[in-house]
Amino acid sequence: MQKKKDRIETKLIHAGEMEPRVLGAVSMPIFQSAMYEYSPAASYHDIPYIRLNNTPNHIVLHKKLAALENAEAAIVTASGMAAISTALLAVLSSGDHLLAQECLYGGTHDFLTKYLGSFGIAFDFIDGENPESWKRKLRPATKAIYVETISNPLMQVPDLKAVVKFARDHSLISMIDNTFATPLNFRPPEWGFDLSLHSCTKYLNGHSDIVGGAVIGRKELVEKILYKLDHLGGSMDPHACYLLHRGLKTLALRVRYQNESARKIARFLENQPAVEKVNYPGLESNPSYKRAAKLFDGFGGMISFELKGGVAAAERFMKSVKIPIIAPSLGGVETLMTRPATTSHLGMTSKDRQKLGISDSLIRLSVGIEATEDLCEDFDQALSGLK
Ligand SMILES: *Cc1c(COP(=O)(O)O)cnc(C)c1O
Repeated sequence: MQKKKDRIETKLIHAGEMEPRVLGAVSMPIFQSAMYEYSPAASYHDIPYIRLNNTPNHIVLHKKLAALENAEAAIVTASGMAAISTALLAVLSSGDHLLAQECLYGGTHDFLTKYLGSFGIAFDFIDGENPESWKRKLRPATKAIYVETISNPLMQVPDLKAVVKFARDHSLISMIDNTFATPLNFRPPEWGFDLSLHSCTKYLNGHSDIVGGAVIGRKELVEKILYKLDHLGGSMDPHACYLLHRGLKTLALRVRYQNESARKIARFLENQPAVEKVNYPGLESNPSYKRAAKLFDGFGGMISFELKGGVAAAERFMKSVKIPIIAPSLGGVETLMTRPATTSHLGMTSKDRQKLGISDSLIRLSVGIEATEDLCEDFDQALSGLK
């Protein structure tokens, strides 16, 4: 049985599990049934239906995810973007205004810039590291503030304590995309955030084989978002629920290892003469280090870096590494490498990227669970080929 004092490792295995177990099964079965019989006593709205996010596979995940971040409630969604878009559309309505950190995940950036306007919702970008500048963007209609725990691809950590305080002082709903940190390294509800959003496609599932999302936070808000999700239809399928549930069980083992491995790799890269700059919040040299060390239990598995020699060197390096897979996305067991200028940030002009500090030669690394030494040796051989 799950007790409140259980630590996160125990919760990952036992929180939210069905009691009693289904026919004694140790592993939660997949309930691949779209609809369910109803008893005359049941209210129509209580009958399970996959789109209504209330089948047994949904319910177990909802309870487990809420427990992981010590939140009141949680729901899963068909993708990270379903979580983000549904949450924004549930929290904001026509006439409202949103403040959002300027360096956002590409899909979120596009949703804001291309679609929010058509719903009559206005927004302004803010510099997450500069709280003094936020008040100038505040309007009477401002309803919410939206940030990411660790920004992509420069791995900057906004002033998260200031975000919560600012939201409280001005009665705003505080929303944070916690995908890069995971509940292992940062639990937004514990710091006073109203809503924590995730792409479960990444670390929570961890095996690069589903897309999924989650909304975690205050019960009243999560229920409002669930109601919207029931109608917009971005619901997770039971089979994806099953894979997410299975992946979650090893989250602590994976993320702790990835935290350690990424920190060693960041230090290794920082000491290479061919490397110009390394962005990782766990490096003492990083401007976000002090803040991140206060907020986080670990610094995560994401690194970005620049080589001397620009785009040509970056391309040669990426051609010569043998272990990392050159692929977008992140958070899986395999190490992945991309050049954001050609993938996640391709939609921006080179000038706009430069304004945010994203050079065309920047390489982003999602550290997997391979041996750290093997990865460092691989980077070493690829770097020596650049000389
Ligand atoms: C991948 C990602 C998303 C979008 O998630 P999908 O599951 O691909 O829809 C949102 N935010 C962040 C930070 C991400 O990395």
